[in-house]
Amino acid sequence: MNEITYKILLGALVIAMNLIRIYYMTRYGKLHKKIKEIAPVREKRLTQMMTVAMAVPGLLWLFTPWLSFGQLALPDGVRIAGFAVGAYGMWWFYRIHRTLGDNWSPVLEIRREHTLITGGPYKRVRHPMYSDMVLWLVSFALITANWFYALTFGAGLAIILTVRIPDEEKLMTERFGEQYGEYKKRTKRLIPYVY
Ligand code: SAH
Repeated sequence: MNEITYKILLGALVIAMNLIRIYYMTRYGKLHKKIKEIAPVREKRLTQMMTVAMAVPGLLWLFTPWLSFGQLALPDGVRIAGFAVGAYGMWWFYRIHRTLGDNWSPVLEIRREHTLITGGPYKRVRHPMYSDMVLWLVSFALITANWFYALTFGAGLAIILTVRIPDEEKLMTERFGEQYGEYKKRTKRLIPYVY
């Protein structure tokens, strides 16, 4: 199949992801004045680093030939399957955002009206959005068939998994104490029943 086809497939997923994000960012922007932000500078820097690592190589792959050194020969079926995984991932991305509602924020923070969500996608894992991003990694790596892109996206994701999750759980424990402790006991971080 033509490389253009895969660019369209990746482009469609990236557009879907951004539409969901833009909608919730707009909502967040409207609410933001009312909340107390306790996100440290480090968190902001990390968020910027993650965004660059995850977004820039994708744009380069879509619009320039510069990443062609990283192309691998994957069968068409595998790359199409990658798109199916990604479409499933975007559907979950929407569901997770909808469940988190006004508790969602682009940087870690606690708002005054913050509620602890423990149902829906949050029933078995504490970080379904980050689990979902692991699905994106699989999806985007297969669609692009580009090891360099997979590596940089994976590096951005690694920051989330190793730095952000512990920071986030510390913050949630400060705010919700025993309630979060109980929630932690009956859930896993990323993969239901496993991890
Ligand atoms: N880690 C979660 C949420 C990512 S959005 C996930 O992967 O699905 C990040 C924001 O969500 C943080 O600022 C935090 O305050 C908030 N948050 C995380 N878990 C939450 C929960 N169970 N209920 C309510 N808010 C939560």
